[in-house]
Amino acid sequence: MSAGLKGIRLAVVGGDDRELYLIPELQKQGAYIVGVGYEKAPPLPGVTLISSLLEAVNEVDVLLFPMFGTDERGNVKGKYADLPIILNKDVIQAIPTRVPLFIGWAWPALKSIAEMKGIRIVETALLNEVAILNSIPSAEGVIQMAMELTLITIHGSQCMVLGLGRTGWTIAHMLKGIGANVTGVARKAPDLARAVEMGLKAVHFSELEEEIGSAEIIFNTVPYPILDRVILEKVARDAVIIDLASIPGGTDFEYAQMLGIKAKLAPGLPGIVAPKTTGKILAQVYPQLILRQLTTINTSIDS
Ligand code: NAP
Repeated sequence: MSAGLKGIRLAVVGGDDRELYLIPELQKQGAYIVGVGYEKAPPLPGVTLISSLLEAVNEVDVLLFPMFGTDERGNVKGKYADLPIILNKDVIQAIPTRVPLFIGWAWPALKSIAEMKGIRIVETALLNEVAILNSIPSAEGVIQMAMELTLITIHGSQCMVLGLGRTGWTIAHMLKGIGANVTGVARKAPDLARAVEMGLKAVHFSELEEEIGSAEIIFNTVPYPILDRVILEKVARDAVIIDLASIPGGTDFEYAQMLGIKAKLAPGLPGIVAPKTTGKILAQVYPQLILRQLTTINTSIDS
């Protein structure tokens, strides 16, 4: 493995088991790691532990926050943290402008404070190279959930995938691979054409109300309230809905429950079902992103 990160000081802030696999991979590439929120973690050889995020921002060249970002108040999930980790205005004010911040996704308020202060934020979950690779553990995880939540085999079942984006395609592809009858629902003509080419039944969202009644398992990837009352009324009562879209999902869960339809929100699957693979995916992608950002920042400082 290359030592492309030699001499670069990275703060890994919060996270879950993914980071336990990410950290040694980054170390192999020469990075010096400061861990923020790892007081309760298993031993991490060579990692300097700092509890205060405010203190850490001045000790490093790059800040790496988790894929799931923060909550509205800036709380960063830290599975192994003793104390709360909060990414707020005070922290942003303290970050030197030479230090880029990588995070799965950021709230608009955070982005605008960072922009005013001249801090570069890279939202990694939105990047194709991350999202497409991450869709593999997500799809495996959601199919595992479908197996657990239903009394039928996936093989031969009527599956419907709502949204044919980076995650939807991978789910559809895997479902086909294990013998499901898959309907892909999208709103763009090229996506519907590709669905036909893949051997899916292609349905436009405008026809969802008429089509959804035949689905036994519904996978939603659309981060918009797509499974509303009108659509849910048409869903078979013994169907299962698994919603992967970012919280709060695209399903009216309360109404689904009233109708007696099993509906589950399934956030953060990659970190739950395959933290090792996902940590390694991040370790593959981060070095290039980090080096690109540091080069851009150094060039703008020099000029
Ligand atoms: P993506 O590539 O942007 O795909 C989203 C899909 O939703 C696109 O096909 C898009 O269609 C469609 N869409 C968006 N708004 C729509 C609307 N109003 N009506 C109809 N279709 C709409 O995103 P992704 O990477 O696949 O991720 C999808 C969601 O899953 C995100 O919320 C992401 O955070 C989440 N996710 C969750 C997990 C997990 O573990 N639960 C893992 C990965 C991703 P157009 O192209 O026509 O806009």
